[in-house]
Amino acid sequence: MGGRVVDNHALPGRIPFDMEFPGNLFVVAAPSGAGKSSLVKALLELDSHLTVSVSHTTRAPRGQEVDGREYWFIDEPSFRAKAAQGDFFEWAEVHGNLYGTSRAAIEQRMAEGHDIILEIDWQGALQIKKLFPQAVLIFILPPGWQELQQRLLRRGEDGPETIQRRMENARVEVAQARHFDFVIVNALFETALFDLKAIVHSQRLKYSALRRTRAAVFTALGLQ
Ligand code: 5GP
Repeated sequence: MGGRVVDNHALPGRIPFDMEFPGNLFVVAAPSGAGKSSLVKALLELDSHLTVSVSHTTRAPRGQEVDGREYWFIDEPSFRAKAAQGDFFEWAEVHGNLYGTSRAAIEQRMAEGHDIILEIDWQGALQIKKLFPQAVLIFILPPGWQELQQRLLRRGEDGPETIQRRMENARVEVAQARHFDFVIVNALFETALFDLKAIVHSQRLKYSALRRTRAAVFTALGLQ
């Protein structure tokens, strides 16, 4: 966790936050071990109207990761050049690496009417809310500290020092949940997935969203 929150308002070409986008933008954040990736993956498998945005990162690929699938892997000078040009909707330093969401990809896909989901850290989520208040921020909480630690241990990806660091970071991250629009406690995966689906579904029932997706009905009823 970098702790530095970047103010994209200072960057050239920032997203015009009063722009009316037809698609929904969902932003999911959580401490590592809370089950964010599994929940988003399960949601994407169930929901063909939702697309995920592939971020840029300076961290090295892990295991089976493929450039352009999990992330666009780039070096730090290239990342910083893109950030300086305003190519990122948001970017942040997380666990010592830089991560950023491409602005052009988001703008284009939302303008086409797609719903987009971003799986990013809390710093990026809060930047997005500032730039684009219509974004729907969702925070995934673990059911408790002990359970979080057990999940990190069970995952078997990290040594004791890394787990200790992740637990310390988790305290800072969890404290940000109050700034999010929705909070899901991931005690039981199926229940948490149900909650996530409910949040996504409720956004699609908003008047402004229905006016787009049920245009024929609205026209027939003489609704604007
Ligand atoms: P990992 O390296 O384990 O894939 O990701 C580390 C953290 O960075 C996770 O919390 C992940 O959600 C976050 N992350 C991934 N992409 C982005 C991004 O584009 N922007 C921000 N701010 N965080 C990201």
